[in-house]
Amino acid sequence: MVQISRPLRLTFYTLVILAGAVVSATFAMRHAERQALEDDAARASEQLALYANSLHTLIERYRALPAVLALDPELRSALKGPVGPEQQDALNRKLERINGAARSSTLELLDHTGLAVAASNWRLPSSYVGHNYGFRPYFSQTRSQGSGRFYAVGVTSGIPGYFLSSAVKDEQEQFLGAMVVKLEFPELEREWSQGSDTLLVSDARGIVFIANQPGWRYRQLRPLSDSDRAELKATRQYDKQLLTPLEHRPLRRFDDDSTLTRVEGPDGSVDYLWESLPLATEGWTLHLLRRPQIAFEDRRNAGLAAAGAWLTLVFLLLFLNQRWRLARLRQRSREELERLVEERTRDLRTAQDGLVQSAKLAALGQMSAALAHEINQPLTTQRMQLATLRLLLDHGRVDEAYQALKPLDDMLTRMASLTGHLKTFARKSPSGLRERLDLAAVVDQALQLLDTRLRDEQVDIRLQLTRPAWVRGDAIRLEQVLINLLRNALDAMHDKPLKHLEIRLEANQQLWSLSVIDSGGGIAEEHLPNVFDPFFTTKPVGDGLGLGLAVSYAIVHELGGRLSAGNQGQGAIFTLSLPIDLEAHIPC
Ligand code: ADP
Repeated sequence: MVQISRPLRLTFYTLVILAGAVVSATFAMRHAERQALEDDAARASEQLALYANSLHTLIERYRALPAVLALDPELRSALKGPVGPEQQDALNRKLERINGAARSSTLELLDHTGLAVAASNWRLPSSYVGHNYGFRPYFSQTRSQGSGRFYAVGVTSGIPGYFLSSAVKDEQEQFLGAMVVKLEFPELEREWSQGSDTLLVSDARGIVFIANQPGWRYRQLRPLSDSDRAELKATRQYDKQLLTPLEHRPLRRFDDDSTLTRVEGPDGSVDYLWESLPLATEGWTLHLLRRPQIAFEDRRNAGLAAAGAWLTLVFLLLFLNQRWRLARLRQRSREELERLVEERTRDLRTAQDGLVQSAKLAALGQMSAALAHEINQPLTTQRMQLATLRLLLDHGRVDEAYQALKPLDDMLTRMASLTGHLKTFARKSPSGLRERLDLAAVVDQALQLLDTRLRDEQVDIRLQLTRPAWVRGDAIRLEQVLINLLRNALDAMHDKPLKHLEIRLEANQQLWSLSVIDSGGGIAEEHLPNVFDPFFTTKPVGDGLGLGLAVSYAIVHELGGRLSAGNQGQGAIFTLSLPIDLEAHIPC
């Protein structure tokens, strides 16, 4: 695995976190922008509906006017025959009056060929009177369908307007001509230009003919087909007006009639929220273009909030990660500590086993000396007894010889038991051995081993042993404990004139309590807490190892018992307690 240095890794992480903050901020800013745009678009769309309504109302107000005028008998009769100058003058004035009252742009009366026989603008140089408008689609529509409508630039006046016409018919429903009202929208355009929005009205071919701002009128929103061009030429709808395409390209579409559109103008490209609303009756489309207003603060705030949220998340994760690692580290240290403790305990146990063994060997050494002394004496005696026996047999004193055999036999038995004990003592008993045994018998055995010394030193022994005192344990090791206690007692009483040794074995609740009490002067108060410590000894160098009690203590504890020390009377008292074994039968 490639090892990356710590500072390099830190730099890398910092960069990743910063990159995350930048990405989330950018994302949030985009989102805020999109949201603001959508809100703006929704508002614009509502406003557009209001504009559409005002346009619709304006048109509706004049829609009935030509139909009503077409019923005027004077106008009808005028169209039935040739119109003389006087009649024409009267008609002109009449239309002029009505036009003034209705506040429409122009009123004109066309005969069945489309010739304007009278018009409200008769006084102006741009008067319609005498011109033929038979080529205009609204005229043909009126002739065939009874009414017509058409937006066009006036061929005479050059002023654009919406022509609404109605057929004038005689009593037999014969077409006599058409009554036409022209509406112009400068007022509407002026009214619309109050706001900052761009408002456009385009016709079915996508040609803008109403705009509240200069430069937008007569722009093509879509390319024109050849047939469109031919038709425009025939109807002279926009007459001499030059139609130029409006370069635009949708950047984002919110819905069919709502987009974010880039418009290429003379001053470069500008992005608009572009809302469209089709006006079904007219076949037009109303457009509202608005410069998107995305407050810098909104975007910045959204970006900052997102970056903040990201950093909070990252630091929270880092914090949790740190905690987790710390917990893992603690767990690992704990495990390591436990392992070490276990290891040390194992080592100590091994060392303790070794100590037990070496203490045993030391005891064995002492015991060997004692045994040598113990065996030498009987051997000498036996040699003498054997000589006596031979003499008795030589003299045929068979009965006496038999009697002399008895002490010889006893002595041999005792020697055999001593050596046997020595053999078992020397071997390392497997730890954890739990046999059922009588503690009183262990006391006997120990006393037997120390018998010579007890006798030599003329110790006054008092025994109060409850028999049998069943316990579970290892006879050899318990014997070793007892020998230690007895030998210590003997050592303590060695130079004392009074040598009382008392051994008491009694049941105390669930325990057998074995006390060894001596008259050796006791243990100094300050030594009491240390007597069970390994290598604690008050004996001269060479006499004591300071291991006896430590080993004994360990042995007793291993067997589930307790060993305690104290002072009583003229000497020390050592008490060994072991759980009473209640089991009736000795397991095989
Ligand atoms: P050692 O006998 O080799 O000194 P032990 O562990 O058997 O080692 O005994 C430790 C010490 O405890 C002895 O040196 C002695 O000071 C004290 N001690 C043990 N038994 C007695 C006793 N019965 N009376 C007085 N002191 C004792």
